[in-house]
Amino acid sequence: MNNKTLKVAFFGLGYVGLTMATSIAERDARVIGYDIDTEKVAKVNKGETPIHEPNLSTLLRRNIVKKRFFAIEDPRKAVKESEIIFITVGTPSLQDGSINLDYVKSASETIGKELRDLEDYKLIVLRSTVTPGTTCNLLKPSLEANSCRICGKDFGLAYNPEFLREGSAIKDTLHPDRLIIGEMDEKSGDALEEFYQWLYHDELPPTIRTNPDIAELIKYANNAFLAMKVSFINQVANLCQRIPNADVEVIAKGIGLDRRIGPLFLKAGLGWGGSCLPKDLRALLKFSRSKGVALPLTEATLFVNEIQPLNAVKIAEKLLGDLKDMRIAILGLSFKPGTNDMREAVSIKIVEELLRREAKIVTYDPVAMENARIVFGDRVGYSKSALECINDADCSIIITEWPEFLKIKPKDFVSRMRNPIVIDGRRLYDPEDFSSKLRYVAIGFGSKI
Ligand code: NAD
Repeated sequence: MNNKTLKVAFFGLGYVGLTMATSIAERDARVIGYDIDTEKVAKVNKGETPIHEPNLSTLLRRNIVKKRFFAIEDPRKAVKESEIIFITVGTPSLQDGSINLDYVKSASETIGKELRDLEDYKLIVLRSTVTPGTTCNLLKPSLEANSCRICGKDFGLAYNPEFLREGSAIKDTLHPDRLIIGEMDEKSGDALEEFYQWLYHDELPPTIRTNPDIAELIKYANNAFLAMKVSFINQVANLCQRIPNADVEVIAKGIGLDRRIGPLFLKAGLGWGGSCLPKDLRALLKFSRSKGVALPLTEATLFVNEIQPLNAVKIAEKLLGDLKDMRIAILGLSFKPGTNDMREAVSIKIVEELLRREAKIVTYDPVAMENARIVFGDRVGYSKSALECINDADCSIIITEWPEFLKIKPKDFVSRMRNPIVIDGRRLYDPEDFSSKLRYVAIGFGSKI
């Protein structure tokens, strides 16, 4: 890539678009973000990030001030003034679990129309998670039909899946494990590889160049495998709970040392949520069924995860009996630490179950309170701190493993709670220490209840 300033556009300023746009601007590119959500556009231009993500707000403000990044409501300018256009719109679930490609479709129509009277070659890169065939059978024909131009000759096209984890999105964007380039043609693949050479200072992570269909399936296979690892260890955790002296943490360590298995994604807990794994597994299952293929392992992965959060409620009932009017402190609401994202968070399932049993719920999360109010309204109480949350509670449930909860010591639970019972859904605390000082039940820790 030569020395002139690289011009890049993003269609969609959600977790993926905003993180990547900001990271690229930091490398001195000129980045334009377009989003149909005009409130988001205004917020971003003020240097305010709509999401909580470590380092994002500092980087965003810096790049807005330096005018390396700005958001707009005009897609024409975004397309016209950019060499590479990333599509980073959402691909949520439809009611039946299949993928909703409406946003990809509308972004491709908009980009296609704007390409129509432009002479120069642009590279379009789809980064959203999509089912196999979407780039070739939806995006390409839509871009061609709306632009009256030919893919491969007049513009380039590639599918390039995103693997970032919320909570470490900037780090993952700047230091990915690998790059998957699903190119429609060699020129598009070369252009995208060249862009990443520039972004990573000529030190490309392991890179696979392949066709778009394979790249699309790599993303789904990746997420299905990760989810399967967690559901697997959660099953082992459930078994451990019935065996006095068993501890899933030691078992996870034992099997994780086998290099064929590896230690990551073997943390037992109350299940996985978030904006990706649940919807991607559902979409994969729907897609595979449409091809006449059953994926029983993925079905089971999803099933295990649907019932896993209910463990917390069952344990509370076992310890307290009828939960009606019991005051339950919920510590942690976001689907994982480091983010305020509550999409498909396990906390929602647990709180809803507890409300069904007419328990009194009081909640606390370091960053997700605003989102929690949207989800729960006035059906639950909101605390200003973790310590305030556990005051007078009959039971505390740890749902998100925020590091700040480690500051709560057994004596705090004992002195503040009406009934010092802690259900550690994320294996945050030392079971030996806590069980010796209060009624403590941890996922995957064999106890006598
Ligand atoms: P998001 O819902 O946070 O953001 C999507 C954004 O796209 C929204 O701001 C929306 O207003 C905007 N948008 C919708 N239609 C548009 C259009 N036609 N033009 C311009 N903007 C439009 O989504 P996200 O979490 O950033 O995810 C985006 C994609 O990346 C999804 O396919 C997701 O599965 C995938 N992904 C997400 C993550 C993650 O951790 N969030 C990780 C890997 C992959």
